[in-house]
Amino acid sequence: MDFLSEVLGETLILGIDSLILGICVNQLSKCKSILNALQKAPVLDIDHTLNKEIKKYPNDTIPYVVIRGLVKPLGNPITSNYNHNVTGVVQRLTIKEHVIARTSAGFWSDQTRTIHEVCNSTPFVLNNGQYEIEVLDALAAQLLDMDVISDKFEPMTPGVIDHVWGFFSGIRQRGLQTMEEMLRDGSYITAIGELSRTHSGQLKIQPPKDGLPLYLTTATKSSLLQKLTSSRDFLRVLLIIFGSVATVASCRIAYKYIKRRRRKAEEETMKRQLAQGRKERRAHAREKNLSEVQLCVVCTENPKEIILLPCGHVCLCQDCSENITDNCPVCREKIQSKAPAFIT
Ligand SMILES: [Zn+2]
Ligand SMILES: [Zn+2]
Repeated sequence: MDFLSEVLGETLILGIDSLILGICVNQLSKCKSILNALQKAPVLDIDHTLNKEIKKYPNDTIPYVVIRGLVKPLGNPITSNYNHNVTGVVQRLTIKEHVIARTSAGFWSDQTRTIHEVCNSTPFVLNNGQYEIEVLDALAAQLLDMDVISDKFEPMTPGVIDHVWGFFSGIRQRGLQTMEEMLRDGSYITAIGELSRTHSGQLKIQPPKDGLPLYLTTATKSSLLQKLTSSRDFLRVLLIIFGSVATVASCRIAYKYIKRRRRKAEEETMKRQLAQGRKERRAHAREKNLSEVQLCVVCTENPKEIILLPCGHVCLCQDCSENITDNCPVCREKIQSKAPAFIT
């Protein structure tokens, strides 16, 4: 059995584990950088001090800032499809299909698939009295807290054919869920992002250029920090678990490798000792005082003991024949097999 098949299980575990470990490390470093940036981000009010504050930063841009204000559309707001009294600035319509699907292990489990999603948005500002900040690219926000305006589930009543089809295909329909979510105008939210001022003096908040996320949330800075801290801690625990698995798997591979090398070395020594023993026994059994014609053509010490085939030459002792495998030393013909020769 070669070494790879001996450690196949460990290698497989190590491969999958490293992949998960890589994702965890990546997520953890992202989480840490967001946490770091958010901790340093100033909390500013939308009032006359904002213009003074923004001047302290280069290019009139604060890289990451926390601002709270009321949502106010710049033009006509979007009206809800399901409740005409509700208006907002961001609307998301989703249709989800609920199915019971058979897993590869043979169990049936509930699954949801989004089959349709539409997002609409209209320009809006965060407002506080006479001061306001425009929010750009709201749909790019990593966290966009919206109110659920409508959530309907239409169950499907399957017929006999559906049951039979479901049994063979492994998917049974349960129903369709239609959901409408909106960021309503007048809601009080926290925007976290890059704050800058245009030449015309208009303030705007948008997704930061250095890859940090834009948040539009009903949560406060401290609760968001708490959430990020707990997800960082969770990722650290995962990192320790998967790191330990990787260490154990690597150690096992290393242990098996060393064990295999030691075993090979022992086998080699054993083989050498056996060959030496055979050689010595042969030397004892050999006749002494042989004529030159009877001696091996290579070492001219031991008697001729081996016949080479197909040429048929008896010209080697057993010790020398072990090292000569290609051609007969007398006629140069290719050696196909050897056999002991008994000359009496
Ligand atoms: Zn010899
Ligand atoms: Zn020969």
